[in-house]
This record gives sequence, structure tokens and C-alpha cells, in this order.
Amino acid sequence: MTVDAPAPPAANGLRWRNRFAALGPDFHTRLMPTPLPAPYWVGRSAAVAGELGLSSDWLASDAALAAFTGNQGLEGSTPLASVYSGHQFGVWAGQLGDGRALLLGETDGGLEVQLKGAGRTPYSRMGDGRAVLRSSIREFLASEAMHALGIPTTRALCVTGSDAPIRRETIETAAVVTRVAPSFIRFGHFEHFAYSGQHEQLRQLADFVIDSFYPDCRHTAKFAGNPYAALLEAVSERTAAMVAQWQAVGFCHGVMNTDNMSILGLTIDYGPFQFLDAFNTAHICNHSDTQGRYAYNRQPNIAYWNLFCLGQALLPLIGEQELALAALESYKTVFPAELEARMRAKLGLLQPQPGDRALIDGILKLLAQDRVDYTIFWRRLSHFAADGNASPVRDLFLDRAALDAWLLQYSERLAQSDQGQSADLMLKTNPKFVLRNHLGELAIRQAREKDFAGVTSLQALLENPFDEHPGFEAQASFPPDWASTIEISCSS
Ligand code: AMP
Ligand code: MG
Repeated sequence: MTVDAPAPPAANGLRWRNRFAALGPDFHTRLMPTPLPAPYWVGRSAAVAGELGLSSDWLASDAALAAFTGNQGLEGSTPLASVYSGHQFGVWAGQLGDGRALLLGETDGGLEVQLKGAGRTPYSRMGDGRAVLRSSIREFLASEAMHALGIPTTRALCVTGSDAPIRRETIETAAVVTRVAPSFIRFGHFEHFAYSGQHEQLRQLADFVIDSFYPDCRHTAKFAGNPYAALLEAVSERTAAMVAQWQAVGFCHGVMNTDNMSILGLTIDYGPFQFLDAFNTAHICNHSDTQGRYAYNRQPNIAYWNLFCLGQALLPLIGEQELALAALESYKTVFPAELEARMRAKLGLLQPQPGDRALIDGILKLLAQDRVDYTIFWRRLSHFAADGNASPVRDLFLDRAALDAWLLQYSERLAQSDQGQSADLMLKTNPKFVLRNHLGELAIRQAREKDFAGVTSLQALLENPFDEHPGFEAQASFPPDWASTIEISCSS
């Protein structure tokens, strides 16, 4: 494997090193994006530009607009689409791949830059290689919202739009999201090389991932020093930690296919995702998911199922099934431990105590029973910890007697530690603002009229979701009745 010598930075301030591209043609196809007519800006993230070392002057330029729509090459980049496979809705789907994503390259800071919706690729199958404005705004806002919540995720630098018509259930318009992550490698990349019997490439990919992102796997004493088993364990642990955060914040991914699972444990491929409104553990956010395979309460088991697929794909490298199974075991301890830690933080419990589990289960049962708004409950409970006023919390419940009994226990528990510290922790753990479906929908409707102020103002709230943002109470309030009629499907 050869890595090109670093080139001097381009006018945009980027230097490239393109390590994934260097893996060779078995892993991808090089091709240029397909231009879109008359692009315009929809949204940009100054924070992501900063992480890339992209000059903000340049990001405001027409050259940037053209480059991030795919209308003009980005100096120094080598665009490519990668090949992967995967299990979709529990069934082996065979070869998939970047059907509408193009990797522009990797900066010398170790961040890959990818265009989503920039045209057809050899992996597009029946698709048009495009993404619509609606789903692109959702992905842009969700990526930045999750990051601000402290949840591992791919990031989004910007969205550009074009009036080019795109056919979905109705005719919509095109958009391109520029995504950023250390790597976009998915479980499905490994499945691809395992299922097609390309075991040398499988090893090359695993070695690349270990050397780039999990170097400790080379030095582990566990699993008889087997680095591939160590990789499976490390990925299991990261995935467990990520899903625990999803559950704690009330995030439903919606399409947890193995091709939508990041090898780095990042939330990836925002499609029909949803932040819960009312707490319904069996909530299904994806209108196409008729069986509820990806319901909120099934996410932890599905993540394990997906890791099992990854384990099977790595088996030719790991060698012994026993080692693969042992590596997967970590999920079963890390997930519950991470979830309990997250829930304890939501309750402001500073030190673990034996009764914590019962306290957590107790409130989740009451929230589900009365279908209480999940985000509002936790925020109000945080204020209760700060000021002792129980009324705003009580107002959310029908079964007040049961709630009072729980609050009594909870207050006793809180009183055992520094209450001010607990309240501080809760206000930094329980967001005031999440990307509810209806908030995204309102910003999208406005954007369709070429008014992007709604996207920008929602972005500002979601970038600092724990701040109070006076004047934006409506965005922190209950969803309107029409919110429950929004149907978000796989169509994007
Ligand atoms: P998803 O479940 O949306 O992440 O996509 C599953 C597979 O379908 C991936 O290989 C995507 O690249 C591909 N895909 C989805 N939408 C399109 C599209 N409009 N054009 C081409 N490929 C697509
Ligand atoms: Mg996908």
C-alpha cells in the first residue's frame, strides 16, 4: 500500500492524504460527481468547517458551493464510491455500496469528506443517485444535534440544494449533504469481502481499520493476542456505548441494517430517524418498518444481532468461533452498564447505589404508562432537582399517586448528595431541545420556499441543546397534534 506524499494546502486550506483510496480498486470505483443545475446554499456548519481546517471565507464562496454540490472538483480530492454489502431488515441483501455517496478524500487531519446525493455510481442499482431536500435537511440537522448531545455520529458540513426535480412518492427537489467522519466504513464492508470469498481483501480492510482506528488491538493480551477478535470486541463496546446513548436520549435510528452500522460506533445514515415525543417503548419511527424490527425498544438487541453478523464476517480472520463469541460477550456487559450510567446521570445521581436500578425502572414504567413526553419530562425533572417545585413534573402524569410515591423515593435519594451538583449534571444531560419530527418538518416546508432561516435557527438551538434559549419556548414544547401524522419512510 502506498500513501501519496502530502501536497501543499489548496486555496480552501485543505490538505489531503486519502488513505482509504490507497486500499486499491477492489474497494472502490473512482468517479466524478454528476453536476446539478443552479445550486444554492441550504445550511452550513461553522463548527465542522473549523474541524476540517476549512477557511470560513472559502466556505462562503461560490467555489465552495460548486464543490459541495459536485459541480466542480475540490482541489486535491480523488472522488470514489466504495463497495459494501449487508443485511437489510434481517435478510442478506447482497452487494449494495455507495449508491449515492462519493468520498472526496481524507484530509491530513484524518477526516473524510463525503458528498451524499451527488449522482449515480456503479452501486446505485435502481436508484437515481440523488437525495431530496427534505431528507438532506434532516440529516444535516440530526448530525449536528447528535454531536451536540455528545453522541458519536458522522458530522455534516453543509447542504446545498437545486431545483432539479427528483421523483419519490411525489416530485421533490435535489440536495447534497457534505458529511464528515474519520471513516465511513460499515459492518457491510466486511460482510462484502467475507461473503464474496475475498479473504485477502477482508484482511487488508481489517488491518487498515485496526492500524488507523484501533491500534491497541495489535497489542492485546486477550484472545490469545488475536487482533481481529480484539477488533470485534472493541467495535462491540463502541456500539454498545452508542446505543446506550440512543436509548437514554430517546433516539430511534429507524433502519439499523448492517450497512448502516459504522465500524467506528458512529451514528450513521440518518433516514427515518426520530427523537421520541411521547414515551412509547414499542415506538416504530420508520413507516416502511411494518414488522417493527427497528422499534425503539428493539434497538439494543438489533445492535447485537448486527455485531453477530460482523463477527461472522470476521470469522475467516479470527479463526476460532469461540474467540469471536467471546469478543461479542462484551456487548452484554457494556450495554447495560453504559445505559445505567446514562440513566443515573439523567436522574442526577452522582454515585451509584444499590437502589438505582429500581428507581430508573420505576420512572420508565410510569412514563410509558402515561405516554409522557420524554424530553419534557427529563427537563422538568432537572428543574425540580434545582428548585424543588414538583408541579410542572406532576402535571405531565395521569397517575399522580404513583408519581408522588416515586418522587418521594427519588427526593430521599437526591438528598443524600449535593443537590446543586445533581441539578447541574441533569441540566447538562437532559436537553431542552431535540430535533423532533415536526420541528424538522416546519424548517423543511420553509426551505422549500427558499427561506432557510428556519434551518439556521433550528440548527442554533440544536447546536446548544442544553442552553435555555429564551424566546424559543415553542421549540421546546409539546408536539402539535399533526406531528403524529408525519410519516417518515425509507424514501429519501
Ligand atoms: P439506506 O438504507 O438508505 O442507507 O440505503 C441502502 C442502499 O441503497 C445503499 O447502498 C444506498 O447507497 C442505496 N441507495 C439509497 N437511495 C439511493 C438512491 N436514491 N440512489 C442510489 N442508491 C441509493
Ligand atoms: Mg445506508
